[in-house]
Parts: sequence; structure tokens; C-alpha cells
Amino acid sequence: MSQDSHDTHRIAERLADVVAKIDHAVRDATGQDNQTRDPVTLVAVSKTKPADEIIPVLKAGHRVFGENKVQEATQKWPQLREAFPDIELRLIGHLQTNKVKDAINLFDVIETVDRPKLARALATAMKSLGCKRRCLIQVNTGEEEQKSGVWPEEADRFIALCREDLALPVEGLMCIPPHDENPAPHFALLGEIAKRNRLNILSMGMSADYETAIRFGATHVRVGTAIFGPRS
Ligand SMILES: *Cc1c(COP(=O)(O)O)cnc(C)c1O
Repeated sequence: MSQDSHDTHRIAERLADVVAKIDHAVRDATGQDNQTRDPVTLVAVSKTKPADEIIPVLKAGHRVFGENKVQEATQKWPQLREAFPDIELRLIGHLQTNKVKDAINLFDVIETVDRPKLARALATAMKSLGCKRRCLIQVNTGEEEQKSGVWPEEADRFIALCREDLALPVEGLMCIPPHDENPAPHFALLGEIAKRNRLNILSMGMSADYETAIRFGATHVRVGTAIFGPRS
């Protein structure tokens, strides 16, 4: 086998392994098969990875991907989408207001609505472009200064602003727990905020903790390294 086809094979293998672990975690958490309920969706995080490493995942039938930079995604995905039109692209990184239109044109879901200025810019741009994009509110559950997201105590008010005043199609919440802490309390907190706001979608859990996130009700897990290998 050439080096390239070897790597391609490894990526497909790791994808299958993650899918199996998700199925297992769902069965543990709910006693049900992942296909018979609202399934947990695997968001394959392809940031920094070139198209030829993404294609094996597409060829394996996977269709939901996360990218964290508008510009990088704009360079990779329009072409991939021509070959695989039924993909769903989710923005999982910080969004600058001057990139809002590009983001709406490329992404199906914006997971990182994290401040009023951005929420207003999204609402205005969706109106002028004549299209809606599903949104998640990013919550800074660890109250980390350097991290994006509304703080937990401000979440209810921000959700109401987005939904009621700006009519954004808010369908759920996302979080990135602090690197050096047990993620479980953060997942639990995100679940509580979602529940009291009657939101059904919870994007939480990454390569290191997606099985834990599923135990706490994740509907979407964002997994990069465990599928694509380490990022350089
Ligand atoms: C990079 C990234 C991930 C994936 O992280 P891995 O540890 O590689 O699985 C998930 N969510 C966000 C927001 C990211 O930026």
C-alpha cells in the first residue's frame, strides 16, 4: 500500500471506531440504539486538514463537518460540496462580524453565536440575504476570560434577545469546557440552561470527552483528532 492510501485507510478506520463508540455510549446512556431515537450526530471537525484527508470521510458516507475558520472553509468546501452536495457544514469557531455574510453563504449552522453585536449582525445579514441559518448559542460555562461565549448567568437573557428580539432560528447551545477540568459539570450546566429555555440541541464533547458528553445528553459531538489524527 502506498503511504497515501495507507493514511486514507487509517482515517476511515478511526471514523468507524468513533461511530462505534458513539453507538455504545448512546446504548449505555439510554438503553436504545443510536438509530432508533433522535440520533447523536457526529460532527467531524476537519479544521487544518486538506481536502484529500477529508475525502475518505466523505467516501465512507459521513456528511456532517465542523470548521472553525470562515476563510479556510471557504477555500476547501465549495469544491467538496460540488462532489458531495448533501453535506452539512457547521461553524464551530469564533465569528467576526465582518465575515458574517461569508459565513451565512457557506455554513448551514452557526454554533458560535456568543455576543449581542454578532447576533444583530447575523439577523441583519440573514434578512438582507433572504435566508435563515440555524444557530447555537455558545456558553462560556467555565467563565474563562480568554474564551468566547456568554456567561451562564447571562445566557437566559441572551437567548431571549436572539430568539424574540432578533428572530434568529436558535435551536440549541454549545460549550467548550476548560481544558484542565472535569468536563462533566460543564456538560450538566449546559443541559440545565437548555432545558429551562426549552432548547433541544446540545453541541458538546470533543475527542477526549465525547462519550461523557453523551451521558449528559449531547445531541452533537465535535470530534477532530480522533478521526483525522493530530493537527500540526
Ligand atoms: C478543534 C475543535 C474541536 C475538535 O477537537 P478535537 O480535540 O480534535 O476532537 C471541537 N470543537 C471545537 C470548537 C474545536 O475548535
